[in-house]
Amino acid sequence: MSKPEIPFAESPVIPNMVSEDHVIQFSCHKGIGCWNACCANIDISLTPYDIVRLKKRLEISSTEFLRENTVPYEMEKDGMAGVKLRPVEGGTACRFMKPEGCGVYEDRPTACRYYPVALLSIRRQDEYTDTQSYAIVKEEHCKGHEVARSLTIADYRKEQGVEEYDELARGWRQLVLKKKSTGPAIGAPSLKSRQLFFMACYDIDTFRNFVESEAFAKLFAMTDDERTLVLGDDVELMQFSFRFLRQVLFGEQSIALNEEAAKERLDHWRTRQVEIEKEAAEKRAKLDEEMAWEGFNEEDSGLGFEPEGGSCSNN
Ligand code: SF4
Ligand code: SF4
Repeated sequence: MSKPEIPFAESPVIPNMVSEDHVIQFSCHKGIGCWNACCANIDISLTPYDIVRLKKRLEISSTEFLRENTVPYEMEKDGMAGVKLRPVEGGTACRFMKPEGCGVYEDRPTACRYYPVALLSIRRQDEYTDTQSYAIVKEEHCKGHEVARSLTIADYRKEQGVEEYDELARGWRQLVLKKKSTGPAIGAPSLKSRQLFFMACYDIDTFRNFVESEAFAKLFAMTDDERTLVLGDDVELMQFSFRFLRQVLFGEQSIALNEEAAKERLDHWRTRQVEIEKEAAEKRAKLDEEMAWEGFNEEDSGLGFEPEGGSCSNN
């Protein structure tokens, strides 16, 4: 008898969703036989907050960070882009790996903090609130599972400083989940939407220039205090970028529009509606005209004219 097909049979993720109370047995420490083995072959997705922390640590702009240290990928077919850490040139190891351990330890990405736990965010359609579940990753090379230290996932998250990372990336995760669940209903996002999503989520310094621009100020109403707060702090700006994307991608009123700009938009919308109705009326009229002609021809043939080249089988 042939074996049933098991999806992801090679995956190291144990296919069981567990809660924060689940107890794991794990410890990773210097001197362990597999030291750095996990960092020698990476596949690490970054959150916007990971990028903010890493670019600050490396004292470079988000644009430089993205160019030098990441590769984009599609989180879903024709959907929004994600960003992964780029391994060393021609290899698979993390570019921040040092013989003594992680070279950016205090600012290491969320995925590195979570390992060997995987975060699974689940969200019901048309809701922003997501529920967190977890899965355990067991890879043969990782000896951390053999060390006799037991703790709950909740305690592990605290120990690894993951709570802050999750909290600050929540707005982004919710956007991604909402986009995924509404994707088929509203179709593939336009190239412009995807570019906007990429800039606002990952390239925070370019997004800052955009928020500082005249065009932005013309459209959105922000108080001076709000503008100073948002422009003066990467984390505030990142949170603002999530609000901005909720507005432009899902039409939520999360940032007030300037009265004049709002009026202009409404006028533009009304003009467009008139144009759409006019186009529809023209199409209807053309269709009626075509149908009238077809009706005439049918009547015509009913008078006994044979179509050209035709013949009656009774002849
Ligand atoms: S960022 Fe640090 S912990 Fe994460 S893969 Fe690279 S070296 Fe390892
Ligand atoms: S115990 Fe696991 S996580 Fe720690 S260094 Fe070894 S392979 Fe990496």
